[in-house]
Amino acid sequence: MNDDANNSACAAFQAQLAELIASGEDVNNHPHLQNCEVCRQLLAELETIAEAARQLFPIVEPPDELWDHIESAIKSEKEFSVSETLDGHDSGSAG
Ligand SMILES: [Zn+2]
Repeated sequence: MNDDANNSACAAFQAQLAELIASGEDVNNHPHLQNCEVCRQLLAELETIAEAARQLFPIVEPPDELWDHIESAIKSEKEFSVSETLDGHDSGSAG
């Protein structure tokens, strides 16, 4: 039976598919995909799902540098508002 051989080839390919994708390999150029429509469609579906997941769950963890910026921004803003409150009553020449 040809089907059986094809199946085990697919199983072997699909077993390393995730690793291939994760390692950044160009999976589309994999020799198995040249003659296996089933796995081509599987890969296309995976890529669609991965794309959708990327949009649903964007990377939320900001890099350390960003936190530094946020922290210093909060600090300087606090200092500003504190000194403004302290001598805010001093200035008021409107009208
Ligand atoms: Zn296959």
